[in-house]
Amino acid sequence: MKEFFNIDERLLKIGEQALEMAQPVFKHIEKTTRYNQQKVLSAFIKNGVSESHLGISTGYGYSDRGRDTLEQVFADCVGAEDSLIRHNFVSGTHTLTVMLFGVLRPNDTILCITGRPYDTLIGVLGIDSDSDGSLAQFGIGFEQVDLDSKGEPDKEEIEKRLRAKSYKAVYIQRSRGYSLRPSLTVEKIGELVSLVKSIAPDTLVLVDNCYGEFVETTEPLSVGADLIAGSLIKNPGGGIAPTGGYIAGRHDLVEQCGYRLTAPGVGREVGASLGHNRELYMGLFAAPHTTGEALKTAVFAAALFNKLGYEATPSYDAKRADIIESVLLKTPEALIAFCQGMQKGAPVDSFVVPEPWDMPGYDSQVIMAAGAFTLGSSIELSADAPLREPFAAWLQGGLNFHSAEAGIMLAAQSMIDKGIIKF
Ligand SMILES: *Cc1c(COP(=O)(O)O)cnc(C)c1O
Repeated sequence: MKEFFNIDERLLKIGEQALEMAQPVFKHIEKTTRYNQQKVLSAFIKNGVSESHLGISTGYGYSDRGRDTLEQVFADCVGAEDSLIRHNFVSGTHTLTVMLFGVLRPNDTILCITGRPYDTLIGVLGIDSDSDGSLAQFGIGFEQVDLDSKGEPDKEEIEKRLRAKSYKAVYIQRSRGYSLRPSLTVEKIGELVSLVKSIAPDTLVLVDNCYGEFVETTEPLSVGADLIAGSLIKNPGGGIAPTGGYIAGRHDLVEQCGYRLTAPGVGREVGASLGHNRELYMGLFAAPHTTGEALKTAVFAAALFNKLGYEATPSYDAKRADIIESVLLKTPEALIAFCQGMQKGAPVDSFVVPEPWDMPGYDSQVIMAAGAFTLGSSIELSADAPLREPFAAWLQGGLNFHSAEAGIMLAAQSMIDKGIIKF
């Protein structure tokens, strides 16, 4: 590292110690990666993926065998009956929107049991205001059960609500998003699904699976969730898919989502792949490995910043359910120095200096570090931070650990340069 980057000798030494600390955790991550990678390979083989599947369709995209086969391959990878995995989903939020509009009908109510949903879902659900086009405007109700004081789902309250009223669906967000609550393991999601189904067997369980794919050896479908959805510029796109999303789970529900993605009566039979099949296949094939690299990056960052005297959550050796790490940097100066340093280690736009900025939808300024091949991709090393207490940087991604390791080291070096970290 010191041959290529200007890094303090003492920081290099601490970096080596952090790497040493992380080794047993890396071993565990590699076991998961190995299992998931071989699971994905076997799904490719089972479905007879061939060169002809990597071709291009245009226009309506009827009989696009590559597209249809990919949906079966992906379903097998996540333990689903069926899936939609397409570049036509423009983002994670769009994908989740299609899932919700796909299965909910006027006068239905959805109950979120993991507290307030991710920021961009607020407008979709119409939670704070009747945003134009929201589910609320279509007569679909939303209710939420707050997390308990430890940031865990409040099972007692969930049970009470389910006994008092009938809900069409329950919504679970697996990842912590930009909060400090723990992310939900598949095992914990399983406990919630069992609770829901024991009281209300017909209530659907829909999971926002963003950032969770391939972190464990199973996905929420294997513990009884009905649908999962996520973004292809996060884990399951492997850093190769240029855009897109997926919905997977029960066949009849996936069909309903298809009617919302395109048009009722037309559904999933259309949608030209325009040459993206190859990138989506390659991305899915790379996804378990890339997710493992992102996990190693998070673990290393936690270990390094612990050694530098900062709290990081989850702790480096905690069981993980997503790829997010947050480092509590305590002051705005530290947060800015951290993000600016990380940007210096990006393969693209390393020379850019990120600055805090007023962003629509946020109540404080936000600073972001991202130098990615795909705009907005957060399976590539990136960090976001609102400039408010507790001045935490949420970091995620890393296409390969060895380059992301340098990015993390440069973040710490930048804090040394600014006199924030002193030895
Ligand atoms: C990223 C994310 C979303 C939304 O995805 P976008 O692609 O940013 O629209 C929703 N929920 C969670 C938990 C996420 O991490």
